[in-house]
Amino acid sequence: MPEPTTPEPVPAELRALAAEADALAERTAEMAARLEAADDGHLQRLAQPMSKATGDLADYTGEIAKTAAYLTRVRVSRDPHLCDVPWGICPIHGVTLHSLGDRAWCTATGCGNSWDYDRLHTPCAEPAVAIATDRDDVTGSLCSAHASDAERRLDGCRIEYLDHRAKNG
Ligand SMILES: [Zn+2]
Ligand SMILES: [Zn+2]
Repeated sequence: MPEPTTPEPVPAELRALAAEADALAERTAEMAARLEAADDGHLQRLAQPMSKATGDLADYTGEIAKTAAYLTRVRVSRDPHLCDVPWGICPIHGVTLHSLGDRAWCTATGCGNSWDYDRLHTPCAEPAVAIATDRDDVTGSLCSAHASDAERRLDGCRIEYLDHRAKNG
């Protein structure tokens, strides 16, 4: 029998972690304030590392919240009605994105689109309009931007647009 696989975390679990860290940060800040208010100078000095710890916890919460948001996007993108390509697009210009750190923007002239997450390296979650079949008969759903990009590249994939099929609502 195969080993049971480790269940992947869900965004709610990460948000619960972030909430715990938030509560911890609050208590830590309270300790720092009490040290700060002490009459003893030695205790007042100890407020500083406690304040730093409070800041570190806020950074931690930020990282966890960011990861939860990415995880949500990845999970949403698994919907079979959405594009399967593991890279994002500009909804107007297509495969024109650049990213740096936690930001992404469209490089098309005059396009002001930008995102406060690395959309380029986040799975595309645009509605699927075509099915691509590669040489090995592996199929995937493509949004219109990724379908036209695949056609342009002529990399041996067959693109079949879904609007040739009967559509109902
Ligand atoms: Zn654009
Ligand atoms: Zn796409």
